[in-house]
This record gives sequence, C-alpha cells and structure tokens, in this order.
Amino acid sequence: MSEFISHRPGIILALLLLALAEFFWRTRIARKGYDVRASLASLGVAAGGALIKPLTAGVTASVFLWLQPYALFPMALGDWRVWMAGFIAVEFTYYWFHRWSHLINWLWASHAVHHSATELTLPAAVRLGWTGLISGGWLLFAPLIIIGFPPLMVAVLLAGNLLFQYGLHTEAIGRLGILEHIFNTPSHHRAHHASDTAWLDCNFGGVLIVFDRMFGTFVPEPAGGGLHYGLVKPITSNNPLRIALQTWLDLATSFGRATTWRERGKALFGRPSA
Ligand SMILES: [Zn+2]
Ligand SMILES: [Zn+2]
Repeated sequence: MSEFISHRPGIILALLLLALAEFFWRTRIARKGYDVRASLASLGVAAGGALIKPLTAGVTASVFLWLQPYALFPMALGDWRVWMAGFIAVEFTYYWFHRWSHLINWLWASHAVHHSATELTLPAAVRLGWTGLISGGWLLFAPLIIIGFPPLMVAVLLAGNLLFQYGLHTEAIGRLGILEHIFNTPSHHRAHHASDTAWLDCNFGGVLIVFDRMFGTFVPEPAGGGLHYGLVKPITSNNPLRIALQTWLDLATSFGRATTWRERGKALFGRPSA
C-alpha cells in the first residue's frame, strides 16, 4: 500500500496524460467535440473530494481496523490465494454497493455526482461524490473484514478497482471481443452511464461484469452507439459545489414536501425519481 501511495504523483500524471491524449483523439481524429468546461468541472469535483478524502479514509480505516480483531477466519496478507479470494469478494461487494447506490435515494445522493457528466470522457471518471461517509455505503464492505480479509487488502483492491474504472470512461475504445464476457469494458460502462430508459440501472460491476450477467442486470451497448449520457434530471452547472450537492438538495426538498412518514421514508430510502 505504501508503494501505491508513494507512486501516486506518477499515477496522477499518467492519468492526466491519458486524458490529454483522449482530448486530441476526440477533437483532431474523431471530430466529436470536447466540453472543456465540463472536464475542468470534473477535475474541480475531484479536487474537492481530495480535501475530504483524509476524513473519509480516516473514519473508514478506523472502523475496519476496529473490526479486524473480531474476524471469524483471519486470513494472511501475504498469501496469494487470499488475494484471489479477496478480489472476487471485493468485486461481489462492489457490485451490490454500486447497485444499491442506484436504487436507494440516500446512497444515490452521493453517487449521482458521478453520473452528472453528459459527455463520457476520462475526466468524468474522477467526478466522484464527496459525501460517501454520510451515505454510508462503505459499511457494506464491513462483512469482508468480519469474514477475515485484512483491511489493507480490501483497501488496495478497491483502489485497484477505481483505477481500472478510470479507463472505462471513454468513447475512444470500441468493443474488446472475448474480454467483454468477463470484464467490465468501456462499452459496458458507456451503457451504465446512459440516461436512455432501457439502459437505466445496468452494468454495475467494477473490474468484472460477471455479477451483472449472473444477477440479470447486464445490458449491452447498442450497436452503433447513440446513447445519451448523464442524469435523467440533468445538472447543467459546471460549479463543482453545485454538482457535488445538487442531488442532496433535491432529496432535502422532497423530504420537506412530504406530509406523511411513508412519503418521508420514500424520499430518503425510496428509488431515485420513483
Ligand atoms: Zn453508477
Ligand atoms: Zn462511471
């Protein structure tokens, strides 16, 4: 993990260079146009997130390290078989974390930020919500620690999952043949980001797409593309603060308008836009 952290500036530079290469591909080769303001807004959201990250990481790490002594089957960090099992376990948990983030208002308020970009480019990948700590979706990973996976392993696997997903946010890569059966690919993730009705709430996997195929949430990208990206109710602003908090404001508004406890419950934990 310390290796990963010490390589962070290099990783960030590589990600920025890839984004720059994609910019040239879109504007000079594919002639698709490029919303520079939206990409800068994504970087602004990422910068705000970086300020909050020490708090989020501190609290989640403390809770997971506190849980570790209660592990039912403590597993060794140095055993490659544990890493293999951990990878599958983290992917499985991530699938449900992501699926429920789309189906429950309280979790969606944090995750909607990521879906607010209307153009699918690499910088859109870092448009991530600031309020994950409050939404509490991270608690879904606690059972992995209770089972016995080392917290450090879960953290490294999740970081790898996020890093892998950076490359999925692009129109520069078409279909990847046989890999499309097992892995989440740019094609699958473009379908995930679509706001067209038939593609809402599909392809929740991180590195793998197998759990979507297993649990019936896999929907392929239409041949020839043509999907519309973003939210059903778009956030038109490029202000990072508004992007990060708009869905919370909407949630507070619908909670405030509710007149019964049933309606209030729906506003907090019901299905987004249902
Ligand atoms: Zn999503
Ligand atoms: Zn995404």
